[in-house]
Order: sequence, then structure tokens, then C-alpha cells
Amino acid sequence: MQRSRSMRRLDRVTPKGRHVLHYRRRANSLPHCGICGAELSGISIKRGAKSGSRRSNERLFGGALCARCTSEVIKYASRIEQGEMKMSEVGIKQRAYILQMVSH
Ligand SMILES: [Zn+2]
Repeated sequence: MQRSRSMRRLDRVTPKGRHVLHYRRRANSLPHCGICGAELSGISIKRGAKSGSRRSNERLFGGALCARCTSEVIKYASRIEQGEMKMSEVGIKQRAYILQMVSH
């Protein structure tokens, strides 16, 4: 634990004047979009966030993609299903999510 950098080190001075290190767990990092890497909003990063709505959102690909990328994926998936677009015209990161939508 004392070697690990997932613990934050805090310099503290005791009432007797001794210098000691205290260790605290670092804050969780924000979840990011799987396509563009933007920080996802509407999600609590607190440890022990209880209700499901604080941990994710109800949208399609909620907790995995940001709203903008989700709308693009939906758009491309319907175009591919209609035959207006080909899979090769879509970015490689979008393909996995589009495949998920088309297969359902
Ligand atoms: Zn995104």
C-alpha cells in the first residue's frame, strides 16, 4: 500500500511535532466516451454511489458513449440498415457500436 501511487500521500504534523505521512485513496477518474474520449456527464464518480441512475444513464450506450457519439452511431446504423451507407464508410471506432445496434 505504501509503495502504491493509487494512494495519495499527505504530509501531516502530529501534536508533538513529529512529521508523518498519511495515506488516502485517490479520487476516481471520470469515465470517458469510447469514441471521442470526452468526459461523460451525469455520472457520479464517488465511491459507493448507490442508485443505478447515479452510476450510469438510461440512454442507449449510456455510460459508454457521450450523447453526440451516440446520436452519430444511431444515425449511421439506420443508414447501413437501409442500405444507404456501407460499413467501410464508417470510422473504425464506431463500427463495434454500430454492429451491436444492427445485430439486435
Ligand atoms: Zn464521444
